[in-house]
Amino acid sequence: MSQDFDLAVIGGGPGGYVAAIRGAQLGLQVVCIDAWSRGEGEAALGGTCTNVGCIPSKALLQSSEHFAMAMHGLAEHGIRVANPGLDLGRMQDRKDTVVRQNNDGITYLFKKNKVAFVHGRASFQSRTASGWELGVAAAGGNQEVLRARNVVVATGSNPRAFTGVPFDESRILSNTGALALAEVPKTLGIIGAGVIGLELGSVWRRLGAQVTLLEALPAFLGVADELIAKEALKAFTKQGLKIHLGVQIDEIRPGKDAVLVRYRDAKGGGQEALEFERLIVSIGRVPNTDGLEAARVGLALDARGAIVVDEHCATNLPGVWAIGDVVRGPMLAHKAEEEGVAVAERIAGGAGHVDLSTIPFVVYTEPEIAWVGQTEAQLKASGRAYRSGSFPFSANGRARAAGHTTGLVKMLADAATDEILGVHIIGPNASELISEAVVAMSFRASSEDIARICHAHPTLSEAVREAALAVDKRTLNL
Ligand SMILES: Cc1cc2nc3c(=O)[nH]c(=O)nc-3n(C[C@H](O)[C@H](O)[C@H](O)COP(=O)(O)OP(=O)(O)OC[C@H]3O[C@@H](n4cnc5c(N)ncnc54)[C@H](O)[C@@H]3O)c2cc1C
Repeated sequence: MSQDFDLAVIGGGPGGYVAAIRGAQLGLQVVCIDAWSRGEGEAALGGTCTNVGCIPSKALLQSSEHFAMAMHGLAEHGIRVANPGLDLGRMQDRKDTVVRQNNDGITYLFKKNKVAFVHGRASFQSRTASGWELGVAAAGGNQEVLRARNVVVATGSNPRAFTGVPFDESRILSNTGALALAEVPKTLGIIGAGVIGLELGSVWRRLGAQVTLLEALPAFLGVADELIAKEALKAFTKQGLKIHLGVQIDEIRPGKDAVLVRYRDAKGGGQEALEFERLIVSIGRVPNTDGLEAARVGLALDARGAIVVDEHCATNLPGVWAIGDVVRGPMLAHKAEEEGVAVAERIAGGAGHVDLSTIPFVVYTEPEIAWVGQTEAQLKASGRAYRSGSFPFSANGRARAAGHTTGLVKMLADAATDEILGVHIIGPNASELISEAVVAMSFRASSEDIARICHAHPTLSEAVREAALAVDKRTLNL
């Protein structure tokens, strides 16, 4: 393998591996260095997303949803199943197989696109006349030096621990431990009712755990549109998730058989205490530059530890770019991928660009939640005049046929131009339905555009069209 490259990508998560492939497609000589190992030190490309994030969580969400359906949902369809049972070992094996298929898929894509891969940890060594020298501590123990004209840093993020309470992945769990439990805990506490807390809480509740979420913020899912968040809180509470808001955690004390959590709630009452068999701490993620030797070469970081970049993901160093969770913006796999493509195109002399305002957000709970663009509260705060329309899934034929009638689609459009400014969905397949809104907003469509487009019947997507009609107060089916 040549040791001189046009592009070295540090990190093989969704940001890094996509940047590497796009760079190779554009004719660059590319190497990707990734440190993730599974089992006996084998490489496992795909980063957090593939190994302990998006993919395994969705595998368990799917399996646990099937289990919940078998336990409680089939009778309504006239299907009798005698004594459904849980084989958690098999469910976890399936999840591991899905993860491995994705790891192997990226290895195959690297070969197909002639991306060189080094399994190891990279650090900045020095600047050269034509680029950068990286040191790589290979997983096998060897030290290598690679030179590249351009470097893309895509080193991702790590889970944030509660101060003074490190993850032991036995009682105190990060996402890694929470996705690998060998038994369903009787009681599961979750600190943080954000996207990850809600998804992991949903998995274990469906499988039989009593789940309690303790959230510091007074508003539930404050990042979502208020109406959607209100619907979600109603639905999750009905399912049996216990959600306490405005909570101040005083103490987390792991013991031999349980974890004790002392907290105060928003109502200003006294201290409460709860004991949980396991505790998931999901209070956010921290940009990861561990071992990168950023300071050695003067790579600028902000107060959060994120690499400082401009709107094109260029850092303060020439030829050094950074993308994904390690920079500003939402910590989402598809945002990292978009940045990977854009940066590779810029390095190859093109004009890649990412519009952060049309990045969709999804929570894969049941019902699913998805949105793109601005919330009603953001529009109010900005003083922009808007019109709003919404349509409930209870009035959609396909949703009724499927038995998934909880939720609604809400559309916000500019009062004068009718340009769509935000679309917010809670309900069946929201994760898929949101794509129509992303496409529409990317083309700066109006609500009337959506209202005039033919949507197949009976589909859930008709609810999106009806929400667009509702902006103009002319729904057909409500
Ligand atoms: C439980 C969970 C569920 C999630 N679900 C979703 C979801 O459904 N949808 C979604 O969009 N996002 C989801 N996310 C977020 C998503 O996983 C991240 O946004 C995404 O992985 C970020 O991609 P990245 O390429 O920036 O970094 P990462 O995926 O974190 O990859 C970084 C890689 O760099 C490697 N690395 C770090 N330092 C070095 C070094 N010095 N040398 C070599 N390699 C190094 C790491 O080992 C890792 O492999 C989820 C996250 C979690 C934890």
